[in-house]
Amino acid sequence: MLKEQEINLVSLIDNFGSEEACRNHLRKLRWPEGVRCLRCGSDQVPWLENQKKHQCRSCRYQFSVTTNTIFHDTHLPLWKWFLAVYLITEAKKGISANQLKRTLGVSYKTAWYLAHRIRDALNEVDAQLLKGIVEVDESFVGGKVEGKGRAYKGNKTVVVGAMQRGGNICLQVVRGTDRETLHGFIRENTSGDTEAIYTDEWPAYRGIADSDTKHEAVKHQDKEWARGEVHTNSIENVWSLLKQSIVGSYHQVSAKHLDAYLDELEFRFNNRENPHMFRDAMLKLVVADNLPYAKLIADQAHLVRFS
Ligand SMILES: [Zn+2]
Repeated sequence: MLKEQEINLVSLIDNFGSEEACRNHLRKLRWPEGVRCLRCGSDQVPWLENQKKHQCRSCRYQFSVTTNTIFHDTHLPLWKWFLAVYLITEAKKGISANQLKRTLGVSYKTAWYLAHRIRDALNEVDAQLLKGIVEVDESFVGGKVEGKGRAYKGNKTVVVGAMQRGGNICLQVVRGTDRETLHGFIRENTSGDTEAIYTDEWPAYRGIADSDTKHEAVKHQDKEWARGEVHTNSIENVWSLLKQSIVGSYHQVSAKHLDAYLDELEFRFNNRENPHMFRDAMLKLVVADNLPYAKLIADQAHLVRFS
């Protein structure tokens, strides 16, 4: 069995270079306690080598290792899926559909759809609440409009983000920078006994403190960037990572898909010290719902250019 610490391109190809090796790996991830019939739960499910399927002795149901998973019903060989997951989780600034297309030798449409399904699966539905010292900030993806205040959205997409000092981030597309939106985001994503919330002086943040959570703001307008430990530099570094990855790898992201890119960035960032990142990503994919292509391409309006 592969030691996850040693995952790199070479070990990936060595260990998952064949359909059989990939299938065996998925089987172990999906049924760590042994294969069970998907229909009746029986554990009497011999493997039919010719059909590449298990068949249940009780109910006769036949199923493959990928039945009812994201990997099913795709003409893509499993090893290309594995390679795509590796490339997406490994690329610090993300990887474009064009680059995936070239590396995997597939069509642009296949690469694009593949990347979206992987991102969708990495979505951290069970993310832990942030606690301790949490920095919160908003960003206008696509750049601020000169001469306009922060309340001006224009056709920009507003993203709000929070980062626990030395810990995880949480990023989300929001409709605006009003008090209700920002307070709602903070309450939803931080623990009730968070020690401190640090923001800039934007008035909508006022009133977020309570008896066991203090709130302090740095006054960027007065060129104050840090007051002791009070600053928002960590979350601002995340904004620069986000902008580099959009400009450097994607060139354009529709407002509709920005949330998916944020999920991907969030997953990579929150797993930056996780030696089992590839395995954990594969585990998420094995249990993920499939994302229908039709749903993905619906409402393709609002394509925003960033470069
Ligand atoms: Zn059965």
